Amino acid sequence: MSRKLIVGNWKMNGSLASNDALVRELLEGIGQPACDVALCPPGIYVAQLQNLLAGSPIELGVQNVSMNENGAYTGDVSAEMLKDYGVRYAIVGHSERRQHQAENDVHVALKAKRALAAGITPIVCVGETLRERESGMTEFIVKRQLSAVIHLNGHCISEIVVAYEPVWAIGTGQTATPLQAQNVHAVLRAQIKAATEHADRVRILYGGSMNAANAGELLSQPDIDGGLIGGASLKSADFLKIIAAAR
Ligand code: 13P
Repeated sequence: MSRKLIVGNWKMNGSLASNDALVRELLEGIGQPACDVALCPPGIYVAQLQNLLAGSPIELGVQNVSMNENGAYTGDVSAEMLKDYGVRYAIVGHSERRQHQAENDVHVALKAKRALAAGITPIVCVGETLRERESGMTEFIVKRQLSAVIHLNGHCISEIVVAYEPVWAIGTGQTATPLQAQNVHAVLRAQIKAATEHADRVRILYGGSMNAANAGELLSQPDIDGGLIGGASLKSADFLKIIAAAR
């Protein structure tokens, strides 16, 4: 099994000054982490973070990538452009983009493919809403969302990272219990196993109100290989504690 992966998703937060302070605090405290670590700032700050993180154990990620290669796509940023700035990971299909930017499984698959073609690892997000969970549809929803990226022409599912983010747990303080999360992770792992013999290489992250207090127990579940952290990644002390819990 590969090292765990802890990813900070800053969402639409930060400024030149606050990013600088936050990254400096993280670099002061991080030492030699036992897990892989990445930060996904808003796209406009990618160059700033590339400079701040150079030579450090923290890798650079982004929150979105264009599904198109290049050309007349106003407002888009291509995977190749991100690669120019040393981007290693791209979050794809976050529920906030599915909800507010009308992204669907087809867009998610195209974006994942573009990222892979540029040598960027997509972090593909799946997760059910509260309504879907309450009506017993969790498994159906996450399997449908994952199936969109399980067979990407020319690429193996083992090249991607999956993030299970129950929508009802994001930014709500209502974390999935370790058992609830593990149950869904096991479903995803079985689906990946059916598609590749390298299923153990695929890291399945949990995201949704993960914090310094609950990270240890979540990360000790057999199929939870890391975390995708929103709010708690904006506070250096909390994020460092989560990193320390991932071993
Ligand atoms: P919170 O950690 O703020 O709940 O956000 C989770 C998330 O959406 C990470 O992508």
